Amino acid sequence: MRIGVDLGGTKIEALALDAGGREVFRKRVLTPRGDYSATINAVVAMVKEIGAGTVGVGIPGALSRMTGLVKNANSTWLIGRPLKQDLERALGREVRIENDANCFALSEAIDGAGKGARSVFGVILGTGVGGGIVVDGEVLLGRNAIAGEWGHNPLPLPGEADLPLPKCYCGRSGCIETYLSGPALERDHERLTGERRSAKEIADLDGQTLDRYLERLARALAGVINLVDPDVIVLGGGMSNVPRLYTDVPRLWTRHVFSDHVATRLLRNVHGDSSGVRGAAWLWDEET
Ligand SMILES: [Zn+2]
Repeated sequence: MRIGVDLGGTKIEALALDAGGREVFRKRVLTPRGDYSATINAVVAMVKEIGAGTVGVGIPGALSRMTGLVKNANSTWLIGRPLKQDLERALGREVRIENDANCFALSEAIDGAGKGARSVFGVILGTGVGGGIVVDGEVLLGRNAIAGEWGHNPLPLPGEADLPLPKCYCGRSGCIETYLSGPALERDHERLTGERRSAKEIADLDGQTLDRYLERLARALAGVINLVDPDVIVLGGGMSNVPRLYTDVPRLWTRHVFSDHVATRLLRNVHGDSSGVRGAAWLWDEET
């Protein structure tokens, strides 16, 4: 059995896949926000309920290559904690921990929208913006454990409409996340129109705010194509439900990609909200 746990900022989800990759268990609990030891206990209780099996955990952040401690997590109570050691001690088995966007990309690469593709860039366009790169069925971790962390690159080629550069929680300005997250879309709409609306409402309005969003996404993804040139780009998160992303963005990105023809496929995820937890389970891919 492969056990996957998605340790999110609002919920913890656990799932078990049998040897054939079929889901045999799933459970969700609310995350004990701000309480590290309660968070550990919640994960351990779910894994023990499932029983024997490999354990993979997706987190909103990464383990530092320097210290092994959690870094870059917007669930800030995890930062600086020895999460891997604490889970392994409590469970009595090895635990693999990976960034949640990397888990998303892995799940979609193995048996989702990117199935059969050699290289997949997975993007989460949700409350935040994350990314992960999978090549030949394996997550590219990187020397600093930040491969694919595209959300905190600056938005390329900012024009008048992109200024002033929005401040990001990471301390920088003009990060891609500050334009392409759901809350960023809502802020941009309020700035343009004076109206407060949800990201879903703004997408349904299908107006100028969405046009700006699509054009920015095209610019930002063109940079990924020039650098990684993936076979497939898979989108996840709340914004991935907007149909125009898949028709307009591949038309808009051509002018920014350094190629005579762009064959990259931009696809909606197959596993939806479940991709994170599925990808966590697939961290033990070789145990078949
Ligand atoms: Zn940032």
